[in-house]
Amino acid sequence: MAKRDYYEVLGIPKDAAKDDIKKAYRKLAIKYHPDRNPNDSEAETKFKEATEAYEVLSDEKKRQTYDQYGFAGVEGMSGGAHDYSSVFRDFSDIFGNDFGGFSSIFDSFFGGGGGARTGGGSARGSFRGSSLQYNVEIDFKDAVFGTKVEVSYARNISCDACHGTGAETGSSKRACQTCGGSGQVRRSSGFFSIASTCPTCSGEGYVIESPCGTCRGNGLLKKRQKLKVTIPAGIDSGKRISVPGQGDAGPGGGTPGDLLVYVTVRAHKYFERSGNDLYCMIPISVTQAALGTEIAVETIDGDKVKVKVPPGVQNGKILRIKGRGVPYLHQQDRRGDMYIKLHIEVPKRLSVKGKALMKELSDVIGEEYTPTPVPLSKI
Ligand SMILES: [Zn+2]
Ligand SMILES: [Zn+2]
Repeated sequence: MAKRDYYEVLGIPKDAAKDDIKKAYRKLAIKYHPDRNPNDSEAETKFKEATEAYEVLSDEKKRQTYDQYGFAGVEGMSGGAHDYSSVFRDFSDIFGNDFGGFSSIFDSFFGGGGGARTGGGSARGSFRGSSLQYNVEIDFKDAVFGTKVEVSYARNISCDACHGTGAETGSSKRACQTCGGSGQVRRSSGFFSIASTCPTCSGEGYVIESPCGTCRGNGLLKKRQKLKVTIPAGIDSGKRISVPGQGDAGPGGGTPGDLLVYVTVRAHKYFERSGNDLYCMIPISVTQAALGTEIAVETIDGDKVKVKVPPGVQNGKILRIKGRGVPYLHQQDRRGDMYIKLHIEVPKRLSVKGKALMKELSDVIGEEYTPTPVPLSKI
């Protein structure tokens, strides 16, 4: 089926103002809302069509792209799938709290994007606790081979005294009389009835007769805790380790969030990392380079490996030491390689004898006084 032009869908001119776009969408969304048109697939299609049009035209950037490139432009922008979360944010603005079940309908239509509340949208549902962020800095070698770090932080836990209910032992919660337990109060305004959060119970749907003295009625307490977190071998800067359930406890008995440990790796005194490979520079002398040699190079493991330097090696030559790089995350028996770049050092000062030998060498080689230039890229 060919797609209809977004402006045509909303029935607005190309130069419509932002407010008019919203008004037009509101009209259509209410008309075709699934709550009003149960089992009407045509209305459902129209509702989706209008929502997609609004999603694009309500966003200045997307609207511009759409004006310029049509559907192809906006499809590309969102990677093929539309992001309705911005529309969803606008919904409360557009509808007030009308269509209480909007978020669930929205979820089933477009997938995701609903609120954080669990429990079917009822006011008594519980929230998931927040995830907490913690930053650690570890040594280069610890990142390569893995380590354990102790983190100490404060998190919300469920109050022991009241078992997270917020009510003093023996006292209870009772349904809020203002809103009758729904957490929302409605007032009529012409055609619509507008719902808003109940001021008495702040939307909880109940009031606590005598609040718990330990947590002052909110069911949560701040507590410091220490935790040993395992940092796996091969981790790199910017990576995150998540420890499930160690974030803030959720109000009303909701599942706790996670502890998210963000890792920063300190620089090594000579190793640099690229993916799973390690790089460093090794200085050798002119004579070593000319004659060839065997050098002992220290690896990240701390041992030394012997590396053959072939005679006549040129400055900047890179040699590989297999399997002495960084272990692959979650595949610890596999490691990257270690690379050494040779840097040929010319002696800055020579003894009398050294000078004489160099002079003799120069005579033997028969130096060229008018060398042939080569392009930089050849080096
Ligand atoms: Zn209430
Ligand atoms: Zn308590």
